[in-house]
Amino acid sequence: MNRFYIAKALRTKVAAQARYRCGYCLTSQEYSGAFLEIEHLVPLKLGGTSAEENLWLACSWCNRYKSFQVDGVDPISRRRTALYNPRRQVWARHFRWSEDGVQIIGKTACGRTTVVALHLNHKFIVAARRRWVSAGWHPPKD
Ligand SMILES: [Zn+2]
Repeated sequence: MNRFYIAKALRTKVAAQARYRCGYCLTSQEYSGAFLEIEHLVPLKLGGTSAEENLWLACSWCNRYKSFQVDGVDPISRRRTALYNPRRQVWARHFRWSEDGVQIIGKTACGRTTVVALHLNHKFIVAARRRWVSAGWHPPKD
């Protein structure tokens, strides 16, 4: 088996571990109606593998913006900082929701860097979040 192959059973297991939502923006597959993607925490291009510990679930926006990045620049300290790792780190330690529940705010250098690098508050997802908030589905409580 090559390092690119991800068996269906492993995809299903990782999706369940991620509770069927994006590890970065917490978009739920159920609310978005979009198929969430298995992403490589360390990109294959940078030597990552398709082993379980390097996989998580991401929405297509986050996966696309993350691309081959593993770090970025913290907008406050201007230091190069590792991106948030949804498998190893706790979301609420690095991010919080704005008062109206539609913006993701970085609480740490890692969180701020990830908000910028993955465009976690791009206008299309913010518009969707507004509708989810009005429906009482968002932000997630956990
Ligand atoms: Zn996302």
